[in-house]
Amino acid sequence: MTPKFICNGMLGRLSTLLRIIGIDSAYSNEGMAILLSARKEGRIIVTRNTKLRGRAGVFFVETAEPEKQLRNLVEVYDLWKDIKPFTRCLLCNEELIPTKRNAVKGKVPYFTYRNFEEYAKCPHCGRIYWKGSHYKNMLSEVKGVLGEVKD
Ligand SMILES: [Zn+2]
Repeated sequence: MTPKFICNGMLGRLSTLLRIIGIDSAYSNEGMAILLSARKEGRIIVTRNTKLRGRAGVFFVETAEPEKQLRNLVEVYDLWKDIKPFTRCLLCNEELIPTKRNAVKGKVPYFTYRNFEEYAKCPHCGRIYWKGSHYKNMLSEVKGVLGEVKD
């Protein structure tokens, strides 16, 4: 089973990078209450908080650079096979639902509607995703860190 994570306070960027590659990554800003959330939801805590260092179920992040943090996490938890870009909402971490073009008519810019066939929608916030330039930029950023990933 693919591990699930919860990143805390200082690791917002890492949390987003994980969502870009489709890894389940919650985010918490609530200090030590993260221990409860993590246990309840079966998540590994990813943190730079030295008070949490060495506890069971905690991955302590050594570096301050989000790209290196991502690379470390993918290596330590062997997430290579679990990388699925374009499957998770970057804002709320929900799994996206593949959506047909006719369902997004009027909800995305006309240029987008004309040029893209595949869409995905977040069931929580309703945000619609497509593989436009923003997506390509994010993917190339991730590829710069992890090497070739399937898109
Ligand atoms: Zn969402």
